[in-house]
Amino acid sequence: MNSRKKIGVLSLQGAFAEHIASLQKLGVEALAIRLPQDLEGLDGLIIPGGESTVISQLMLSYGLMEVIRELAQDGSPIFGTCAGMILLAKSALDLDIETIGAMDIKVRRNAFGRQVDSFETVLSVPVLGEAPFPAVFIRAPIIVEIDSGVEILASLPDGTPVAARQGNLLVSAFHPELTSDLRFHAYFLDIVSRRAYSQRKN
Ligand code: GLN
Repeated sequence: MNSRKKIGVLSLQGAFAEHIASLQKLGVEALAIRLPQDLEGLDGLIIPGGESTVISQLMLSYGLMEVIRELAQDGSPIFGTCAGMILLAKSALDLDIETIGAMDIKVRRNAFGRQVDSFETVLSVPVLGEAPFPAVFIRAPIIVEIDSGVEILASLPDGTPVAARQGNLLVSAFHPELTSDLRFHAYFLDIVSRRAYSQRKN
């Protein structure tokens, strides 16, 4: 039987409500995560955009940092958007906070500067099919270094990587939850389903 998937959305600060709405449109159970016990029985987790410094501090105060780090180490699917990407990165330039540090990328925060701190564009994301993806960037980070195990899923026209995957970890510098295009969330759910399948086989 195909049981309904349960996806958590870290709901301490930032654009969590929009992720919950996107997941609900895709027919999965979306749960707001605020405490370590909320993580039990999840099939996947989304870390939203917001302010990475604030989210990091709240994760530490609520005892979520270490448990989420363990989930990532155990291969749980985690999708980080914007500040969520910063929090998943192994290292971030100019950032004096603790991160989950699960993905072998280095990021730079607020990489577009004050002049263009928000913009919208369309990106080619081959894993999502041919139609370009509408990408909303808000005080966005970029990826400045990646290790060999990381697959770049989308780049800006100048070659700057802005979405990537490493195993069951997925990140985007932009905000798919702020558009009506659900393909990024559907791609994440596909990672979740494949993991559930391989766990059943083992
Ligand atoms: N600039 C924010 C940070 O550094 C990220 C912005 C966002 O998530 N939209 O955390």
